[in-house]
Amino acid sequence: MGNVLAFCEFGDGALKASALSNLTFARAAAAAHGGEVIALLVGAGAAAAGPAAARYAGKVVTVEHGDLAAYLAETYAPVVARLAGDHGATVVTATATAVGKDLLPRVAALLDAGMASDISRLDGATQFTRPILAGNAYAQIEVTTPVICVTVRQSEFPQAEELGAAGEVVAADAGAVDALGARIDRVESQKSDRPELTSAKVVVSGGRGMQSGDNFKVLEELADLLGAAMGASRAATDAGMVPADWQVGQTGKIVAPNLYIAVAISGAIQHLAGMKGSKTIVAINKDPEAPIFQVADYGVVTTWEKAIPELVEEIKKLKASR
Ligand SMILES: Cc1cc2nc3c(=O)[nH]c(=O)nc-3n(C[C@H](O)[C@H](O)[C@H](O)COP(=O)(O)OP(=O)(O)OC[C@H]3O[C@@H](n4cnc5c(N)ncnc54)[C@H](O)[C@@H]3O)c2cc1C
Repeated sequence: MGNVLAFCEFGDGALKASALSNLTFARAAAAAHGGEVIALLVGAGAAAAGPAAARYAGKVVTVEHGDLAAYLAETYAPVVARLAGDHGATVVTATATAVGKDLLPRVAALLDAGMASDISRLDGATQFTRPILAGNAYAQIEVTTPVICVTVRQSEFPQAEELGAAGEVVAADAGAVDALGARIDRVESQKSDRPELTSAKVVVSGGRGMQSGDNFKVLEELADLLGAAMGASRAATDAGMVPADWQVGQTGKIVAPNLYIAVAISGAIQHLAGMKGSKTIVAINKDPEAPIFQVADYGVVTTWEKAIPELVEEIKKLKASR
């Protein structure tokens, strides 16, 4: 019997959508381990977000400290590891976001715990399924250490529903914080009114064939008409056309929206690994042999220069007629 400590990312006083997927997994793991879910919020604003988190977990632990204001693996990992011990956790989880993927292996090392990364299913208390080979095969793994660290693929777990009653919120002491010489010099973040890429219902993605960052503006207009998030292939992000955090794929973000519109993207296996779980895929590419058409539900063989302005006009007309 043991508890599940779920590291939850938050912002603006609320849990992020990614954390709600983690809590869905955490509830199932807690049932398998005969324990309870403890949501852990670390960093500036943790206490303020505590009550919002308590709508989803029976217990919420918040930690705030000047040296923990922004995420740094060196400072966060010891705090998470210590609280896992304090709260009798046999499972420590995080969503497989950039932070979760960075943090949990370090927590596992500190706890001498086995690590199950980027899992897509819980098969039993200690058994998990995870995609391998860019999503072309699934491995079933078993972790036999007393404590197990898990990162959870967001697109494979629905967002947790609210519980009937609000849970308890407890502020924990950060203890001694030692950054081991690491420090944050500055944080550059992009503010956007668009939905978060990993939880958006519609994603518009552009590839190398867009040729320049300026040309992405037509895709952004389309995205805004559809209330979509923007994505991109690695070729487009590596070329500096768009921000790196738009990258979808094996080494980028994993998305599974209702609608994924891939524009001027060839469909390399590493890109498909990040989006082929999308419910409906629309591909626009001038090359009829482009592999993206093999996974597309709807394909348009033409240039984006022709297709996107026409699509934008048609959507505008439809919206105006309503
Ligand atoms: C270890 C590793 C990890 C990787 N991880 C990722 C990842 O996470 N995500 C990812 O995306 N890639 C990843 N890649 C890179 C991947 O292999 C491809 O190189 C990349 O996805 C190609 O991007 P692209 O489709 O935009 O470019 P290209 O393959 O060059 O395709 C451009 C497409 O645009 C079309 N096109 C050109 N002009 C037009 C036009 N005017 N109108 C319409 N269509 C047009 C072309 O026909 C072509 O199909 C990874 C590679 C490696 C080795």
